[in-house]
Amino acid sequence: MEGWIWSGVLAALGVAVWLLPAWRLRRALARPLPAASVATIARSLPIYQRMTPELQQQLLRLLQQFLHQKKFIGCEGLEVTEEMRLTIAAQACLLLLNRPSKVFPALHTILVYPGAFLVPRREIDAAGVVTETRQDLLGESWGDGRVVLSWDHVRRGTADWHDGQNVVLHEFAHQLDSESGSTNGAPYLGSQASYRSWSQVLSRDFAALRADAYLRQHSVIDHYGATSPAEFFAVATETFFEKPWQMAERHPELFREFTRYYRVDPRHWQDEPLPAEPIYQDEQAPHPGTVNYGIWR
Ligand SMILES: [Zn+2]
Repeated sequence: MEGWIWSGVLAALGVAVWLLPAWRLRRALARPLPAASVATIARSLPIYQRMTPELQQQLLRLLQQFLHQKKFIGCEGLEVTEEMRLTIAAQACLLLLNRPSKVFPALHTILVYPGAFLVPRREIDAAGVVTETRQDLLGESWGDGRVVLSWDHVRRGTADWHDGQNVVLHEFAHQLDSESGSTNGAPYLGSQASYRSWSQVLSRDFAALRADAYLRQHSVIDHYGATSPAEFFAVATETFFEKPWQMAERHPELFREFTRYYRVDPRHWQDEPLPAEPIYQDEQAPHPGTVNYGIWR
């Protein structure tokens, strides 16, 4: 009889442990965000004010889940503030609106450096000679559940929402890309027809960007996207959210693929820009974000 009782107690404990994370999450989501936090989000995500109330609510809920589940670690003496957590979470969760996906399920930690950080790189040339170098990075996304960011560059990305450069959008696009099992510029799309269409459009526009980069011709999508298909997806994501009007005009099919995938049209959150003088690639700042999965290098 005692054996039965203990089995029952253990089973109940097992169920409790299994249900605990979901219960904690529900409790966290039930607490409304303080007004001061919402004000910080409105500052750190300039397009927030232009969203419908329904989308704003969705974003806040995703953000609360993100903050509940992910751990932030300050590096090189940086103390991670509430403003940093809210800014990074709001911009990352922008990629998840209207989508049934979970909140970056493989991601567990965001490491934040005060500025650009040095990482060791090991390169092997055709002759087999190994060169150890150190590279300055502003962001990095790892398939093992980590994203690394330079706060200085997160802030710069926040200050200008129209330059097509945003290290948070870039690195979290890599996270979405890796959810499909391989980081190759094709996130999880569902149907075979979607993959076919995605592959056709992105391959063509990637090749066109490579040609633009080679010839140093101006393009709406930053030339850094010509590095690899994975970088093309991440950089085009930055363009989609920050320069939607220009992308829709110059890359209509690519823009359509992205509106299908991200399920939002960022043109609703920005005024159509006035026709401007052409900007030449040489005048653009060097692109910050990069990824290190070891498959493109
Ligand atoms: Zn990258």
